Amino acid sequence: MKDEHEDEGQVRPPALWVQGLGKEYEGGMRALDDLSFQVRPGEILGLVGPNGAGKTTALRMISGVLPIREGRVVLAGHDLATDEVAAKRRLGWVPEDPKPFDTMTVEEHLAFTAALFRVDPWRKRADELLERFELRDKRKALGGELSRGMRQKLAFACAWLPRPAVVLLDEPLSGLDPRGIRAARAAMEELAAEGAALILSSHLLELIQALATRLLILDHGRKVFEGSLEEARTALAPDEGSSLEEIFFAATGEDADGPWLRGGDEER
Ligand code: ATP
Repeated sequence: MKDEHEDEGQVRPPALWVQGLGKEYEGGMRALDDLSFQVRPGEILGLVGPNGAGKTTALRMISGVLPIREGRVVLAGHDLATDEVAAKRRLGWVPEDPKPFDTMTVEEHLAFTAALFRVDPWRKRADELLERFELRDKRKALGGELSRGMRQKLAFACAWLPRPAVVLLDEPLSGLDPRGIRAARAAMEELAAEGAALILSSHLLELIQALATRLLILDHGRKVFEGSLEEARTALAPDEGSSLEEIFFAATGEDADGPWLRGGDEER
């Protein structure tokens, strides 16, 4: 089967390519339906949608935490189904509520990540990340001793260590203090500037508006919009200066009758 991204000539191939992703939980609950999109190097894709829209399900499938029975995910050119280890080696994952190993220290988490992702040398970068995410004083602390925010910071440091091609972030700022929020925002922008593709899922629309270069809006497991903020304004918003909040309500409100833009003309 020929990949869509092989046909794109001069355009940089996507770092993440998702095609026809679907998920039905036990009991027939359809959480995700025929979801297709791409993220290119250097892009920050803002993933938004109401509670239960399927955002976490999508991220868990792309990260390989949930098995994929419908659809296909290609990470940095590696198919998750047939080339799982290589695909996962290019992926960073900051879950909503990171759970470090209780009996491993902060430092050991970084050493473990370096071994797993074959980062060599790694100590200098690990030290920089501990400094950046204000974990230097906690390097000997056990995972089980960390506060919620510190666990979040450790998840950032571990995700950043291997210089991933694709990073998935699920409500990454929840639990962070103001200094941590500032460091995390800067780190996301820098990693994208270095060429990584990021998916940032959050209900903080101000954050999405500030950082995201493109938007993907999900509702009831379906893509209802994909495109730039400008395209969203043109397609959905009442006036030119509309905020992302107004766009969000227009796309997902009770009166919404999308989809409006589907990132190309693929069929549903
Ligand atoms: P939120 O903004 O509240 O985090 P979300 O967009 O991340 O929501 P998901 O967590 O992906 O949404 O959930 C999508 C749907 O799948 C919801 O209806 C949810 O109840 C259902 N769901 C999620 N996890 C499971 C599970 N383990 N078993 C059964 N249903 C699930």
